[in-house]
Parts: sequence; structure tokens; C-alpha cells
Amino acid sequence: MQTMEGKPVADVLRQRLEGQVAALRERGIVPSLHAILVGDDPASAVYVRAKAKACQELGLAAQTHRLPAHTSADELADLIDRLNHDPQVDGILLQLPLPAHLPTARFLAQIAPEKDVDGFHPENVGLLWQGRPRFVPCTPAGIMELLRFYGVTLEGKRAVVVGRSDIVGKPMAALLLQANATVTVAHSRTPDLAQVCRQGQVVVAAVGRPALLGAAHVQPGAVVVDVGVNRVEDRTLVERLFPGDGERLRELNTKGYTLVGDVAFGEVAPVVAALTPVPGGVGPLTIAQLLANTVKACLLRRG
Ligand code: NDP
Repeated sequence: MQTMEGKPVADVLRQRLEGQVAALRERGIVPSLHAILVGDDPASAVYVRAKAKACQELGLAAQTHRLPAHTSADELADLIDRLNHDPQVDGILLQLPLPAHLPTARFLAQIAPEKDVDGFHPENVGLLWQGRPRFVPCTPAGIMELLRFYGVTLEGKRAVVVGRSDIVGKPMAALLLQANATVTVAHSRTPDLAQVCRQGQVVVAAVGRPALLGAAHVQPGAVVVDVGVNRVEDRTLVERLFPGDGERLRELNTKGYTLVGDVAFGEVAPVVAALTPVPGGVGPLTIAQLLANTVKACLLRRG
């Protein structure tokens, strides 16, 4: 069984970008990413900081616009409008979730499509499904890089995506389809999930339920990508999922939780050919792909 780590893939992606960034710099151009963070959700703040840090490490300019939770729709719209029209701004990222009074779809659609580095604007979603992608959402785009890196062929394969979010499940299905896999998308109303998943030679789990997929959900030799990131505090569950894994228990003792994927790693690993770990699998690729999209936005507009 191959453990498909994300870091070596992210490193290759970054190396590729370093050359492009250096070439732009020689022409006096520094690609820039502007993140908008509304409210004080602690997880969102962590993600935005990590994205800004990754930008700076690659030599991109990163700016975070922090708005209070009570920001009005007009105030947010004004900021997006200003960034849309600023020629120095290459990428705009609206960190989700927004506070409940701000309609997400409206603001995602307001971002200029050519600066939409998350790939959530309806125009970019449409282009992806038409098979001529411009900006592809970062997590599924990163997963395609991971599968390429580990030599997983997709043409003619049966692929099952569990989860149908706009951020992961749906764009993942579009990319697998474009790679000539035969794709099934399962979700919370899918009866007999195990039977559906067992048909997948490639399975992508993007659900957000700890260890939902077990040995009964995979066929021998399958390639499994675990997108889920779930905080688990329950010691009994951790002991069941990672028997004899002292490090996990130490982490649980010190932090009070451990991060668990949607796939029961210990149960699934002996059955399948390849599996991503959590953490350390898909996670590192999401940010690397955001950097790639930002550089691409810069090249498309100013290249
Ligand atoms: P969402 O909550 O938006 O979507 C979850 C999907 O899972 C929905 O389509 C839902 O179905 C489906 N689902 C829920 N319960 C079940 C079930 N019991 N059986 C089958 N399907 C089910 O989540 P996201 O797509 O945003 O994220 C999914 C996971 O991936 C989360 O753990 C998230 O933290 C993680 N993630 C990780 C990233 C990374 O970089 N590593 C990046 C993005 C996400 P329905 O539509 O019917 O409700």
C-alpha cells in the first residue's frame, strides 16, 4: 500500500511556480493575492494566515482585508468592487463561511472572473464543466496533481466521489470526468453508500464525517483520496481508528483532539493500493494550488 503524501507534490508545484515568479519579477511584476476575511471565525483566520504566509514564501504579495462580523452587504460589495478595479490586484479570495446575513453566492459572483483564484465564480464553474477550465477550485485541482504525481491513470476507470459541495465534490467530479473516468457522485441521500463506493477504482471522500468509509467501502486495489479534516476528541474512537498508535494518543492528550479523515485509515489501508493520510495528504496541495492560481491570474492579465 502506498501512502500518498501531499508534501512532495506541493514541493514540485512550488518549484514550478518559482521560475514563473522569478520571470515576472524581472519584468517588475509581483503577483498579488488579496484575501477578504469577514468576522472572527478562528478557523478562517488560521486558513487566511496560512495562505498569506505561503504567498510571501513564494515571493508573492499578500494582503488580508479584515472586516467586522457586522459588515453590511454594501460595505463588502464596495471592497470587492475596489479590488476588482485595482490593476495591482491579481487574485481575490473571499474566505468562507461568511456571516449568515451576507449572501455567499451573490458575493462570489461579484468577484471579477479573471481574479477569481478560488474558481467559485459561476463563469469559472461553467468553463470547468465545459471542459475548458480557467480557474479550478484549489482542493480538487491539487488532488489531480497528486494523482498525476503518484502515476494514477484515470482514463476508463470507475471513480466515485463522496460529497457534492461546490468547493470539493462537484469540481472533483468535473475534473475526473474530463480525465475520462466514469464518475459517480454520492451524497447524504445515497442509499447503500458502501456498495456504491466499492465500485470505485478511484474513490475521493469529501464529506466531513470522521472515518465514515471503512473496509466495506473499498474494493481491493482501489486508490483512495481522503479530503476530510475532522477534529476528533473521543479517545475510544481514536483508539479504535489508530490501534497502537502512541503518537496519536499523545497528540490527543496534549491538544485535546486529533485530526481524522473521512476514511478509517487503519481499516482501509490493508485493502487498497494507495491512500492519502490525514493530515499530510490533500491539505498541503490546497494552498500550493492557490499559489498556482494566483500566478496564473497574474499571467493571464499581465503576462
Ligand atoms: P460540505 O459540508 O460542504 O459537503 C459535504 C458533503 O458530504 C455534502 O455533499 C453531503 O451531502 C455529503 N455527506 C454528508 N454526510 C454524508 C453521509 N453520511 N454519506 C454520504 N455523503 C454525506 O463539505 P466540504 O465539501 O466543504 O468539505 C468536506 C470535507 O473536506 C470537510 O471535512 C472539510 O473540512 C474537508 N476539506 C478539506 C480541505 C483540505 O484542504 N484538506 C479543503 C476543503 C475541505 P448533501 O449534499 O446531501 O448534504
